Amino acid sequence: MPLDNPKAPFSLPKLPYDESALDPVVSAKTISFHYHKHHKAYVDNLNKMIVGTPYEHMDLEGIVKKSAGNDKEKGIFNNAGQIWNHNFYWASMAPKGGTPAGKIADAIKSSFGGVKEFNEAFQKAAVGQFGSGWAWLVKGSGGKLEIVTTSNADTPIAHGKTPLLTCDVWEHAYYLDYQNRRPDHVKDWLEKLANWSFAEKNLG
Ligand code: MN
Repeated sequence: MPLDNPKAPFSLPKLPYDESALDPVVSAKTISFHYHKHHKAYVDNLNKMIVGTPYEHMDLEGIVKKSAGNDKEKGIFNNAGQIWNHNFYWASMAPKGGTPAGKIADAIKSSFGGVKEFNEAFQKAAVGQFGSGWAWLVKGSGGKLEIVTTSNADTPIAHGKTPLLTCDVWEHAYYLDYQNRRPDHVKDWLEKLANWSFAEKNLG
């Protein structure tokens, strides 16, 4: 994984760009809530919840995988999953993103037929995710690329898939900038912010 796999106590990752660099698709105002309030709350919650538990000395991926599917540990899973997903989300964006090139463009073409076809399928999946969740480009078993969505805090790493890129479709990710217009946000996100060099690194 190109992302750090930190251990407790967890903290917010440093953003790889200025907080106004993704404007207007993700404004500084959105980041002020989404990163400094929502993401931070997951970090603070998890740090408190794992004290004195077997999770206390585990790394973040380990916590996500161990708590997945365990109803008694739903709170730990939700907060750990959301930390992992958000760490991955911030890295999935770049101020001058949007156009895949090289190895990742070839993989997109061979799995989806072309970049245009991929963009359409990804938008359809992201818009169709009912309620809160995430749209992902993942590498499945066998190496073929797939588009999947997850609900709430769920994450492909709990299902044996390798994430390459994610778009957060919780309302808190776009409501200040796009209100209810999730389709417009996802389209602009893909065309302007999707960090294809990060996706390519994740291809391995
Ligand atoms: Mn979010």
